[in-house]
Amino acid sequence: MTITHAEENYLKAIFTIAEKEAGPALTNAIAAQMQTSAASVTDMLKRLSDKQLITYEKYRGVQLTEEGGRLATALIRKHRLWEVFLVDKLGFAWDEVHELAEQLEHVQGNDLVSRLDSFLGYPKFDPHGDPIPDAEGRWTFRKQAPLATLKAGERGIVTGVDDHSTTFLQYLDQLGLILGAELELLERFPYDQSVRVRIRDGRELILSDKVTQNLFVKIS
Ligand SMILES: [Zn+2]
Repeated sequence: MTITHAEENYLKAIFTIAEKEAGPALTNAIAAQMQTSAASVTDMLKRLSDKQLITYEKYRGVQLTEEGGRLATALIRKHRLWEVFLVDKLGFAWDEVHELAEQLEHVQGNDLVSRLDSFLGYPKFDPHGDPIPDAEGRWTFRKQAPLATLKAGERGIVTGVDDHSTTFLQYLDQLGLILGAELELLERFPYDQSVRVRIRDGRELILSDKVTQNLFVKIS
């Protein structure tokens, strides 16, 4: 069975949505993610269902079959390993690698992914802090929460982002809030839920509610 790049991208989108919603992916959500019309999504769902990669009930949404889930996981694994390669080995910034990895994830080759994985030292997280499934499709999860949930006086370490947009990643770079950065929440302003934090070099920053909702930290 050959699977096109477009089909692979749909499987990945369905996987991501189902994970976020903790349930079946609805057609509208898939259309929004793929930036296409509901009609073209319906066409594609028919093809994926013919290939037994998804089960699809009208109005109830889409679920990946075991094989569909396996393919989606493999694709996410490739994507994130390529992102690690681009950042760690080629020196790209964390906001520059997603589009490149979108292309590289479709490259097929015997052993390519396992060699890449071993070359990189079997990383468990990508440059944005997202987990990389291993060759058996097992995920490593860690305890993290949005910075917005921290209380005054608590300390945290930046572990990931919910918003992967270039503008957000570049903004975090400017602030010095990269993965692994340590911070302490000093106070929260009731007016707009913005917060004042101190980062490791002693600098204090005011962060908007939007930033604290989209930045994951591990409470230390
Ligand atoms: Zn990416």
